[in-house]
This record gives sequence, structure tokens and C-alpha cells, in this order.
Amino acid sequence: MSVFHVSRRDLVLSAAGAYAAFGLTKSIAFIGAAQAQGLPDQGFLKYKIGDLEVTSLSDGISEAVHREGWIRNATVAQTKGALRAAGLSDAFVPVPFTVMAVRTRGRLVLIDSGTGGFPIYGPKAGLLAKSMAAAGLDPKTVKTILVSHLHGDHIYGLMDKDTNAQIFPEAEIIVPAEELKWWMQPGVDALDLGPTRVGLAARIRATLATWKNVRPVAGEAELLPDVHAIKAYGHSPGQMTHLLNSGGKQLLLTADVSLLPALFAKHPDWQGSLDQDPAIAVETRKRIFERAIADKAMIAGTHWIMPNIGTLSKDGNGYAFVPITA
Ligand SMILES: [Zn+2]
Repeated sequence: MSVFHVSRRDLVLSAAGAYAAFGLTKSIAFIGAAQAQGLPDQGFLKYKIGDLEVTSLSDGISEAVHREGWIRNATVAQTKGALRAAGLSDAFVPVPFTVMAVRTRGRLVLIDSGTGGFPIYGPKAGLLAKSMAAAGLDPKTVKTILVSHLHGDHIYGLMDKDTNAQIFPEAEIIVPAEELKWWMQPGVDALDLGPTRVGLAARIRATLATWKNVRPVAGEAELLPDVHAIKAYGHSPGQMTHLLNSGGKQLLLTADVSLLPALFAKHPDWQGSLDQDPAIAVETRKRIFERAIADKAMIAGTHWIMPNIGTLSKDGNGYAFVPITA
């Protein structure tokens, strides 16, 4: 957590935090209004969690156009209603891209790498290098990159968008072995996995599969001191989330277990069409969210509006995400 700055916005967050802290059952969905501010101007936010220095780095945003079927079991009208209920505009579905940086025991670690400015993610993405510079993080000093899963918006930042040359050649890149194995199957190219995944398997074969600094790790292993992988299959076949421990505090970096909390935390049964196995994704979401609540862990998501770190609590049939003050 961090210093409490008194501002109107923080007072809103503080009230929401109080509901969470005291286990009140009253709906705290109104806290979403505080999130409507969107990306911070400077492109990053820093937090201290235990001894960890955590930085949320903006890689930009995609503004998804509403269409029936984007959420399989919710209509566009319901989706718009959930956005409005959280104080957000209903003009589009915001899909921010956030890369996390963690300094732990002197080692600078990135979790995922953003879109790499690949055109399918739109003109407002590809800002990672700019955000790292603004945050004072030198890409050359990144020692380790933990990859949650192999979708383009998490790995294309590892490679030049034209030549595939490595952006972080000095870093060790740890990928989930199950996920890499799945994308290396011969039949994957022929599957229809949606427009953002066209050519993805071929690009993985041309890059991560051949790079010498890639280390596949299977299962729920300890990847670094105090950093464990936790299975989170569903959104992709071998997605892993990352649990960090420091000074008695836990931080769960959940990648794409849930897209926007206003939609998928509030309505955890909603099945996103971007989830490769939506039913398993729903099970995973509930398991990871229940774990975060039971363990009083801080939680963060790749596609959550900044501040994308906070706490979860039960809220009716779903969950409410309360961002921390940065
Ligand atoms: Zn993603």
C-alpha cells in the first residue's frame, strides 16, 4: 500500500476500502466511478508491497467495439449496463494493456511484455518502451521476464514487430511449458482462434521456440525466490498466474483470468469470447478470486484500468475490485 493522499478521488476509494475491510455486504460497485479516469498521463504507477517495488506500465489501450457474442452469455445491452454501473462510458469496452515490473531482491522482473505495437491491437497500443523510460526502468537491466501465456498482447513486446529480433536478449524468459507445448502442436495453425491470433503459432515457432534464453517451466513451480506459478487454464490452454510473497504480503498477478473487473469480476459467470475454453475460464476465475480473498492477497490484472492493483471482496453474486491508491 502507499501513502494516503487526500483528494476527492481517494476519499471515494477509501470509503470503498472500508466496506471491503469491514466485510460489509452493501454493494460497493460505485467504486468503479473512480476508475473511469483511465490511464495515468505519465504511463506508469508505482507501488510498494512488502519489500517489492511494483510498477504498472501502460502499453496503451484498445477500445473494443460492442458486438453481440463478445460475451457469450451477456447481451450488448447488459454489457453496456455493467459499464455504466461501474461509472464507465458505455461507448466501447476498454481493454487496457498493462505490463507489470517488479523489483525483488535487487532483480528487475517483467511480467509479460505487451503488444509490441503489432497493428492488430490498434493505434493506441505499443507504448511499453515509452512507459518504461518514463518510469526510469532501463530495458537492458531486465533480468527475468515471466510470461503468463502466449497470446500476442503478452509476448509480441518481446520481439521487433518487423524483424522478430529480440527486444530483451539479455533477459531469461520463463514460459509455461504446457502453454508452449500446446501452441507447438501441428494442428494449431488451422484452428480459428479469432482475428488477434491469426499467425500467432507461426510467430511463436519463429521466435520463443528457438531462442536460447527461453526456459519452459512446467506446473506450479517456484520460478524465482518468492515467486510461484499458479495454474490458470481456460483463457488459454496453459495460462499461469504469478504469486509474489514479500514481507508477509502477497501479490497475485492474474494476467487474463478476468478482463475488465466491471464486467467479469462483477459477473464472474460471464464467458468472454476471447477465452479459448470459456467454461474452464469461469472456474479458474472463481478459484483465483476466492484464493485472493481467503489469503488477503493484493491482486492485479493485465487488462484492468489503472490503478490495476488492489483488493477483491465479495459483492452480491460476484466480486468487487477496489484499486489501491498510488
Ligand atoms: Zn491479454
